[in-house]
Amino acid sequence: MVPQNWEHSCMEYQSMLQIDIWGAKCDHVCNRNQRGMTMTVDDLKAAIRDVPDFPKPGILFKDITPILSDPELFKYAMSLFAAQLEGKGVTKVAAIDARGFFFGGVLCERLGLGLVPIRKQGKLPYKTFDQSYDLEYGSATLSIHQDAFEPGDRVILIDDLLATGGTAAASAELIKKAGGELVQIQFLIELAFLKGREKLEGHDIYVPIVF
Ligand code: AMP
Repeated sequence: MVPQNWEHSCMEYQSMLQIDIWGAKCDHVCNRNQRGMTMTVDDLKAAIRDVPDFPKPGILFKDITPILSDPELFKYAMSLFAAQLEGKGVTKVAAIDARGFFFGGVLCERLGLGLVPIRKQGKLPYKTFDQSYDLEYGSATLSIHQDAFEPGDRVILIDDLLATGGTAAASAELIKKAGGELVQIQFLIELAFLKGREKLEGHDIYVPIVF
């Protein structure tokens, strides 16, 4: 039963439902599953599915959908990201097209932050700043709305995976162009052998899972 006065009874409702919800003051990691067992980063790592030769031959794709579809793993992953924000004065989350949106949207809704999508060129409807970067073959361009940030905005950049670092470096450049102050870059997974960190020198990076 939903309490009559939602605004004043939100906490009460959560405890009625016995939901272990994490809020704006989250400084802990929600790592207990329904059976009371402690989850670790190794549980997240074990859930990632390797898909060979996707989207093209020679690429070993790290599929995060088994984490997204498991409520306890997803919540645990989100609490790892959220715990990082404590004390950083973050006001906006910039999420990278497309898998960064899964995490960015949840962080914003739970922590009361604004979401800024960084999208592939041609997808954002208003005036944009654009940034091209090199791919193995050819190049790609990412865009951000010119009015994405207000003066003083402190920004977290989030994506699912750090590979060569080109996508995140271009996104960091877009945040700078649009006037945001980038305080941390968060990924769920790093492919360390691709040395993506070298393109992100000088940035604070948080990544729980490293291959
Ligand atoms: P990069 O610019 O090389 O760091 O590539 C990072 C972007 O490409 C991220 O948005 C990832 O979602 C995606 N990506 C690159 N390599 C992989 C991979 N092996 N598995 C899954 N996603 C990948």
